[in-house]
Amino acid sequence: MPQAPNQPDSIAQALNTELLRKVLTLEKSKGYGNKAVAGGLDAFLARWGADAQRKIADPALHQRLAKLELTAPAYGRKGLPAREAWIAAVLTWCDEVSGGAAAKPASRQPAPPQQAAPHPPPVPQGPSLTDPITVLRGFGPAIAERLESLGVRTIRDLLYFFPRKHIDFSQTTSIPLLQAGKDQTVIGVVLEAKEVRYGQRRLGAAEAVVGDDSGSVRVIWFNQPYIARNLKQGMRIALSGRVVFYQGRKVLENPEYEVADEGELVHTGRLVPVYPLTEGLSGRRLRSLMKQVADRYAALVPDSFSPAQRQRLQLAPVGPAIRQAHFPESEAAKEAARRRLAFDELLLIQLGVLARKREWKETMPGHPLKANAELLGAFYGLLPFKLTGAQERTIAEALGDMGKSTPMSRLVQGEVGSGKTVVAVAAILTAVANGQQVAFMAPTEILAEQHFRTVQRLLGPALAGEPSKELARFTLPQLRRPITFGLLTGSTTRKRKQELQQMTANGEIAVIIGTHALFQKDVAFSGLGLVVVDEQHRFGVMQRMELRQKGYNPHLLVMTATPIPRTLSLTLYGDLDISILDELPPGRQVIRTRYLESARRETAYEFIRRQVAEGRQAFVIYPLIEESEKLEAAAAVKEHERLSREVFPDLRVALLHGRMKGGEKDATMRRFQAREFDILVSTAVIEVGIDIPNATVMMVESADRFGLAQLHQFRGRVGRGEHQSYCILMSDSPTPEASERLRLMETLNDGFALAEEDLKLRGPGDFFGTRQSGLPDLRMARLSDAALLALARQEAEAVYRDDPALAKAEHKTLAAEVARLWANRDMAPGEA
Ligand code: ADP
Ligand code: MG
Repeated sequence: MPQAPNQPDSIAQALNTELLRKVLTLEKSKGYGNKAVAGGLDAFLARWGADAQRKIADPALHQRLAKLELTAPAYGRKGLPAREAWIAAVLTWCDEVSGGAAAKPASRQPAPPQQAAPHPPPVPQGPSLTDPITVLRGFGPAIAERLESLGVRTIRDLLYFFPRKHIDFSQTTSIPLLQAGKDQTVIGVVLEAKEVRYGQRRLGAAEAVVGDDSGSVRVIWFNQPYIARNLKQGMRIALSGRVVFYQGRKVLENPEYEVADEGELVHTGRLVPVYPLTEGLSGRRLRSLMKQVADRYAALVPDSFSPAQRQRLQLAPVGPAIRQAHFPESEAAKEAARRRLAFDELLLIQLGVLARKREWKETMPGHPLKANAELLGAFYGLLPFKLTGAQERTIAEALGDMGKSTPMSRLVQGEVGSGKTVVAVAAILTAVANGQQVAFMAPTEILAEQHFRTVQRLLGPALAGEPSKELARFTLPQLRRPITFGLLTGSTTRKRKQELQQMTANGEIAVIIGTHALFQKDVAFSGLGLVVVDEQHRFGVMQRMELRQKGYNPHLLVMTATPIPRTLSLTLYGDLDISILDELPPGRQVIRTRYLESARRETAYEFIRRQVAEGRQAFVIYPLIEESEKLEAAAAVKEHERLSREVFPDLRVALLHGRMKGGEKDATMRRFQAREFDILVSTAVIEVGIDIPNATVMMVESADRFGLAQLHQFRGRVGRGEHQSYCILMSDSPTPEASERLRLMETLNDGFALAEEDLKLRGPGDFFGTRQSGLPDLRMARLSDAALLALARQEAEAVYRDDPALAKAEHKTLAAEVARLWANRDMAPGEA
């Protein structure tokens, strides 16, 4: 193998071939469409190449880079075959450069004995984990296609394709003791088996009589007449299922069955796995295949931990854990397997998050911004209130970060009304005073407009001249020149938009507030030093990545009113530092919350009517229908109609749901804000952060369908003005647990406490909605596994301290797994 000149490992690191490899691998997996990075590969490659040339002095290497076209990339102009060939060549080179590191006898650490062997051990025959499942017996193209639709392509995927659940058929009993309504197993001999027809339509079925030492039972399989042909008289079989009474006699209906003399039971008599079904692939068939695969290939999965480490962490070895996760010997074995596999998932997430944090901070320096005490003092002087202690602390943390050359990545969590905007403005002024521009992004137009107005209110006395709809200027003696704030959203007119973009590009606008329209391709900055993102955590992180690809590496401040429990935030946002605004400004009202059973709905309507009579407004949130947004919208439409025709015919009732267009939604919200409506009927789409101080009632229908954290968010929509506000939670037929949960809402006002309660009861997917989490799939881990999560976190930090690049031989397996898990996520922000 040709060796790259001088120390290969440091070259790989200095050049960041890992990043190049990731991007090219992603591009390859996407079919060479020049889509792996926003804006096309060439821009990325050019930056990468320029960076490499700067870092490397060796002329031979320069030549090599040039030869590989990495100094003057032309990927976009190539045809498909040429792209494929070029990527293959560059990936080979990446392997040389970094593979050299692994092969090189390390001078710093002694090589482990197996690597020192002169000849590698012979490669074992047979399939490997990365082979497609079609190399296995029984997995023809048809099955492979169906499994592929479930994301299973390789043998490894198959091993990690865990059952949805297990049915406990482990209770074996004798035939006379079979009880109705329980999962049970009997083992007996086939006395008789035949095909029968039943019902008016004469459908086929199989019927058998099976006997053991003490009795016999009739068995029927509807719609599966062929089973009769599989059962021979005298055959010993195991049957697992439930009995029903039919004309006074016990009948086993549609049980799982299998021959009982052929070794280990698969479908009966044990904890039997149930796999996610695909059309055309029977559960039974898949289960048989999985048994073979788990038995034969689970042992191929390399363990990331040595026996000593497993002992210390009390983890089962990975191969047996995978086997037990599919076909557990007992509940205890199943739980031990889950614990091991869950630990792996959590650890890999933590390691990925730590690596990403490092990548952000190290690969591209940011701009250190000096805090200007006089300027901030002047700003505080403009405020009609005193900062809370939490605001002071959070501002200090943010400014501390911004003073460093590694860019800030900070998440500010604070309840609705805790005063996050002031924190943002302090950071914004600091950036501007350092000659940097700021982008302030909100998830919706209304929120962007609201921020634009809030800033004007906060800086009011510093306003210079009349602000327009999209521009406002402020001046303070401590600033060298006035600062211009711009507002750019989807509904800004084309012409105006161009002007604003122009002014942003040439630096006239210092602070541009807007929606994601801010980051469209054609928006350029003259010097972007800070990005503030409200209420879109993942969004902010992804935007940061896109910006980096444009050559900016701004400080990032993300704000959220979602109270994220610590266990979850460590996992999801381990790459962000966190500040918590855990103190509300003094004098905030407590929203009175009542949980009502549906019999008292009239009382609630009466209450709303009285509030409206006093000039207030109300929200009615209509329930979550998990299956479909379409159904949800339909339900809201119906409810809107009922409320406006039958209940409040004399009031003005508006409607908001997820199937409406963005513009329509914004228009409705705006009209509600302008008091053109008294009541707003909405699905859960109602935006966070909207400020409608005149609204005092939040009524939530079928409240038991929402998580506590989300109910708390809804509740935060009211109580934003001077009037006492109320939250009414309705529930039609709550279970006792649901009632208890809803009662918690009456007493608990702290979003964090509610979120923790929520997390105990629900998974993280429910907590955020899977789409928003941006997290790799958790198949085994539950985020309520707080202790396991803490252990994984601790271990990840230890590994990371010891070997941040996971370059040591003992971390080879881990490194490969981290790369696999995160490969597509780091680079494809648009897809997460
Ligand atoms: P949120 O955290 O929900 O974004 P805002 O920043 O919108 O909260 O602030 C809510 C309201 O509280 C605003 O009207 C703001 O002016 C006011 N506010 C912020 N900080 C304080 C404070 N320390 N004392 C009193 N009022 C404050
Ligand atoms: Mg806010």
